[in-house]
Amino acid sequence: MAVTNLTQPHDDKPPQSQPSPSVRAKVRALQTPIRFLKGVGPKRAAQLEASGLITVEDLLYHLPFRYEDRRRLAKLREAAAGQEQTFVGQLVALQSKFNPRVRRNVVTAVLRDETATIDLLWYRAPSYLAKGLAQGQRLLVHGKVESGPARRNRLVHPEFEILEPGAEQQTPGILPIYVRPGGLSLSILRKWLSQALAEYVGHVPGCLPAKILERRGLIDIRRALAALHEPALNADLAALNNFSSTAHRSVIFDELFYLQLGLGLRKNSRNRCEAATREPLRDTLTTRMRQRLPFRLTAAQERVLGEIANDMESPHPMQRLVQGDVGSGKTMVAWMASLRLIENGYQCVWMAPTEMLAEQHYRNLHGFADSLGIETALLTASTPAKEKKLLLTRAGRGEIQFLVGTHALIQDNVCVPRMGLGVIDEQHRFGVMQRFSLQRLIGGDAPSPLRGSQPHMLLMSATPIPRSMAMVLYGDMEVSFVDEMPPGRTPVQTKVFRAPERREVYACVIEELRRGHQAFIVYPLVEASEQLEQVRDATQMAEKMRQSAFREFGVALVHGRMAAAERDEVMRRFRDGTVGVLVATTVIEVGIDIPNATVIVIEHAERFGLSQLHQLRGRVGRGVAPGHCLLVDRGGGGSVAAQRLRAMEKEHDGFKIAEADLILRGPGEFMGTRQSGLADFRLANLIRDRQLLMDARAEALAWLEKDPELRSRDSADLRAILKQRWSQRLQLGAVG
Ligand code: ADP
Ligand code: MG
Repeated sequence: MAVTNLTQPHDDKPPQSQPSPSVRAKVRALQTPIRFLKGVGPKRAAQLEASGLITVEDLLYHLPFRYEDRRRLAKLREAAAGQEQTFVGQLVALQSKFNPRVRRNVVTAVLRDETATIDLLWYRAPSYLAKGLAQGQRLLVHGKVESGPARRNRLVHPEFEILEPGAEQQTPGILPIYVRPGGLSLSILRKWLSQALAEYVGHVPGCLPAKILERRGLIDIRRALAALHEPALNADLAALNNFSSTAHRSVIFDELFYLQLGLGLRKNSRNRCEAATREPLRDTLTTRMRQRLPFRLTAAQERVLGEIANDMESPHPMQRLVQGDVGSGKTMVAWMASLRLIENGYQCVWMAPTEMLAEQHYRNLHGFADSLGIETALLTASTPAKEKKLLLTRAGRGEIQFLVGTHALIQDNVCVPRMGLGVIDEQHRFGVMQRFSLQRLIGGDAPSPLRGSQPHMLLMSATPIPRSMAMVLYGDMEVSFVDEMPPGRTPVQTKVFRAPERREVYACVIEELRRGHQAFIVYPLVEASEQLEQVRDATQMAEKMRQSAFREFGVALVHGRMAAAERDEVMRRFRDGTVGVLVATTVIEVGIDIPNATVIVIEHAERFGLSQLHQLRGRVGRGVAPGHCLLVDRGGGGSVAAQRLRAMEKEHDGFKIAEADLILRGPGEFMGTRQSGLADFRLANLIRDRQLLMDARAEALAWLEKDPELRSRDSADLRAILKQRWSQRLQLGAVG
């Protein structure tokens, strides 16, 4: 086999040390627009900008997604079907035919070297390809050899490069393959990159402490970036291709380390506050509560309670997120935690995103509270003015020990001077500012013995997310997992239907309705632009159902354009059993507990993420009767979506579903994470790089242990980079 001997495309030396400008100046240099690179005209720069590549830094971090082994050039005589090979030859025939069916050109060509010929074939050739090729050109082609018609070898859709005369010597090596922004050719992209590397890679601030690099077996970020764009001849191809090369790991670690540093810093700033609870906590009320419970707490519930008890003994306020599937019993955990504080003279405030949820908590708990002699109250927008006034007075005097409510709690000048704990249910429905506001109810106008301190906070979420994701999104909090269901639950029976099978779907719904149960019919949450149309559709559907299929059972409708009060009213009628069928365009409140609802139909199921489907499914099967979830696949998502839906039939663990969802859709699409921007990584992948994430977290926290506010000289550079990369997204006002 012919092996071309090559010079190494890029030597592996670290960039030469220049008089090092401050990190800040470096960061500024990296913000140079790409259009100032030599050879990049304004037109092409605009193309790049349209795909989000604006600065030199963006370009340097535009990393290859694949590498091809072109260290060996084969002769065409050596072409072997089934092998991935690279050849150089001359185009001796070229034909382009327009295929009207796919509206693309089919391009066929023959490549020849001194030993043999091979056919090249592009079925759906983009126009630049048809235009760019010409007979007589010398090409470097790479691809998997197939045996074509008449036993001729061929390459279908090969990668190729047109070789300038005399250029072949420099091409072979390990070739990085990039996503091509704006259809730019790979060779141009590589040219610019090599220029950007030569001029700017020295400006990439490489400030990870050398000790950490050494301990984790990583290399300097500048060397790493260079090695990824211009891999050494002897690089490990397999490692490059599965993102596990030392260079990859170094860039990924770098990215994750700073995020974890920022999260840790945010956490530390909270630890400067003092917790509202100061004296050691007595704990007999929870024992009495346990005796009243008709069930035993699960091991997971007990474990989380232990974690909370630990936090409450610390001098700093707790910030803990409790995650667990719908129905895993988070409410009881929060209630037990509340009792501990109530017993010790503190007030607890629970905030839920809707009136229905607030009422539900109140209804479920005030019986227990009464029997334990605890003063309770419910505050929502519909609390009558007179009642509210009295309530506010009593809360302000510290008399109400357990206060449940909605946003009204943070809007109505409420004072809770002895507030020891705030609980936020369905926390993702609230913004950061609203969480802060709840924490501040201690303040207010009433004199408080706790002024200047902060209550503990417990955030609850029924959106299980994979642990690695939690470490990123909630890295500044403690996170608990209620990862076990109370015994005796039967999983909701799930089945996927195609649109033409609607009769069967309705038949199943009617069967449940005849048994006296209730049903949800859900239309997907849609883009704002589609919303009107969707509301119209759902309104019509509801009307049709009212008149035909479900006439005798009563049909109600909730949609996203209704006022909250109106929506709550409809939900109440459904909860009270006045209507049998609830049609909803909007996602039904996550925590809503309607034990009599046993069936949920999800239309356009292919449009939902798996986690969302799982949450919706949690609306049913909350009573004694088994629940049914009927997913209607309208086929809009193709066969991949169909397969995805099938997974729902077997899998019932919210954490596993979340993980699958994360793998399939990527963190950007994962529920609610996009807005936060915390999961927008350049290279890191929270599933693949889980171990690196943990390492980065450990190192970041260890660093902060020594220097909690990054004030030392050693931390100055870290601080500057942190500020540049994350301060906005992390709202780190104090950094800098
Ligand atoms: P979540 O808020 O996590 O979705 P809930 O707290 O509403 O779940 O609990 C769902 C139901 O399970 C409630 O009716 C609750 O009383 C019940 N429950 C909670 N813990 C247990 C347990 N350990 N064993 C049996 N039932 C439980
Ligand atoms: Mg709940």
